[in-house]
Amino acid sequence: MYKSYLEKMYNQEKSMFFKELKNMLNKNQKRLIVTANPETLKYATKDDTVSKILNDQNTVIVPDGIGVVKAAQILGVNIIERIAGIDIASELLQLGNELKKSIYFFGAKQEIIDDLLKVVKEKYPNLKVVGYQNGYVKDRDKVMKDIIKKEPDIILVALGIPDQEKLIYQYLDQFKKGIFVGVGGSFDVISGHKKRAPKIFIKLNLEWLYRIIKEPSRLKRFYNSNVKFIFEIKKEKKKS
Ligand code: UDP
Repeated sequence: MYKSYLEKMYNQEKSMFFKELKNMLNKNQKRLIVTANPETLKYATKDDTVSKILNDQNTVIVPDGIGVVKAAQILGVNIIERIAGIDIASELLQLGNELKKSIYFFGAKQEIIDDLLKVVKEKYPNLKVVGYQNGYVKDRDKVMKDIIKKEPDIILVALGIPDQEKLIYQYLDQFKKGIFVGVGGSFDVISGHKKRAPKIFIKLNLEWLYRIIKEPSRLKRFYNSNVKFIFEIKKEKKKS
């Protein structure tokens, strides 16, 4: 059940993935990068569109979360390391700046977007921001049409899973190029509004714990996705 998705996941080092990102940008390729955590994979088992997105040949699934890495180990699938969505978003800003590419930001609250734009202007001056929109607009389709018109090289969508992936996928055919990533709460962090876990938590694979301590309301979501997920993985292992 889950194994096929884990087998499709990117299974080399993070540094190699970043080299491939650079290559994709240089070649003006079209890709949807899905940073998959257990919640994403659980959606795939319940929601046909999410399953279709993960199986699409334009989709690159990246293991975002220790839960996914552990699940792969249990089922004997080779995944080397976690590649967090926030790291991919930051790397794309860096690469976009280096290669003088264009970008569109869609998602998060207006004040977050405002501060994100300030950070980008200061830290990534060669990155061309061709458009942005907060994630609380009524007409998301109108925003997607604006993105199509502007033909950006990088499109970061921060609306939370699975909305961000579904929206990108719905319009993907209408784009000729672009690296699309659903980046969840990354704008909140890059704009300086939310702190990422201290390095020691990240190193010990405990970033999830930090997020729960900071936002206890996440506990239920964590239990429903991660804890139940590992039980299901163990069941799948027994059956195989
Ligand atoms: N968000 C949005 N519009 C919505 C719902 C959510 O722009 O209608 C944004 C929200 O402000 C946040 C992001 O989507 O910036 C989701 O963040 P969360 O931390 O929940 O994502 P995760 O990384 O945990 O998937």
